[in-house]
Amino acid sequence: MRAIKIHKTGGPEVLTLEEVSVPSPGAQEALIRVEACGVNFIDTYFREGRYPAALPYVLGQEAAGVVVGVGTEVSAVQVGERVAWCGVPGTYAEYAVAPVGRLVVLPQGLSTRMAAAVMLQGMTAHYLLHSTYAVKAGETVLVHAGAGGMGLLLTQMAKRMGARVITTVSTAEKAELSRGAGADEVILYTERDFAEAVREATDGAGLSVVYDSVGKTTFEGSLKCLRARGLMVLYGGASGAVPPFDLIRLSTMGSLFVTRPTLKDYIATREELEWRAGDVLGWVADGSLKVRMEHAYALADAAQAHRDLEGRKTTGKVLLIP
Ligand code: NDP
Repeated sequence: MRAIKIHKTGGPEVLTLEEVSVPSPGAQEALIRVEACGVNFIDTYFREGRYPAALPYVLGQEAAGVVVGVGTEVSAVQVGERVAWCGVPGTYAEYAVAPVGRLVVLPQGLSTRMAAAVMLQGMTAHYLLHSTYAVKAGETVLVHAGAGGMGLLLTQMAKRMGARVITTVSTAEKAELSRGAGADEVILYTERDFAEAVREATDGAGLSVVYDSVGKTTFEGSLKCLRARGLMVLYGGASGAVPPFDLIRLSTMGSLFVTRPTLKDYIATREELEWRAGDVLGWVADGSLKVRMEHAYALADAAQAHRDLEGRKTTGKVLLIP
């Protein structure tokens, strides 16, 4: 089978398409023919070596497809069922194995492309809004990169919870998309100081929570958007890692809280995984959560997909189709 493997860390050029053997499922695993895999920023962090992993390996950790084989102890899924999963390495490939406890069977009518597009980012938006901080109706939240994969989902989900959503984006075109997802106010952070704009939009009060996935270039401004005892949710670093930070500043800025959450800790039990995946896939299936999928690349073009994602050229979800 064909797969995108990396032998050394670095830029997108380290992604190489190779012929490798089809993996065999362990006793509690399934073998899946991958129909679509999600491209996520975390893949670029692994590719660069920001997150360590033993080389060489097949990149990617989100996909959906059809079960074609199961291990000796598997009864929860059958050959022929359509499934999706995330957080398991090795998905930039024509076939992948995954522990059966991580698989979610797709509802009728939901395509594997759609499922691969929403598993990781949808469940992330779900935990950020329900569990990292429980957003209440009437509250105002700030979502950076509002036209990105995460941004569009966070905005729609926060709106369905009754929140007022302020987003930031880099271009007028992205502003349109963000408004289309329900954003109440959109700030062009390439043109004006977003912290100042947020203060104005909240009559000086500031926010209880900021969702920041941009990191290096927005972190300081995001802190300035918070009211006393507000929560800074730093959930990514699309612009780079935030430099070391002196914690005493949290006290001088108003007894602030900071968290750096990651999905695996919010789907650690089967119950939690089913809750989040059930909500997200259910909303997509009933049409109440829209997923923008304008960027589907052939598996062989994985390097270009990374370039475009990192180059701020994509909006919504980026997929690879084996
Ligand atoms: P996006 O589609 O949001 O792409 C990243 C966006 O960040 C860009 O489109 C761009 O939007 C903005 N951005 C601002 N500055 C830069 C920069 N210097 N370089 C690149 N992009 C920049 O990506 P995803 O939806 O895939 O992921 C968004 C973030 O969410 C990532 O940081 C990722 O790590 C994080 N994430 C975290 C998870 C977790 O559990 N912690 C799980 C899933 C994702 P604009 O042009 O409008 O500024």
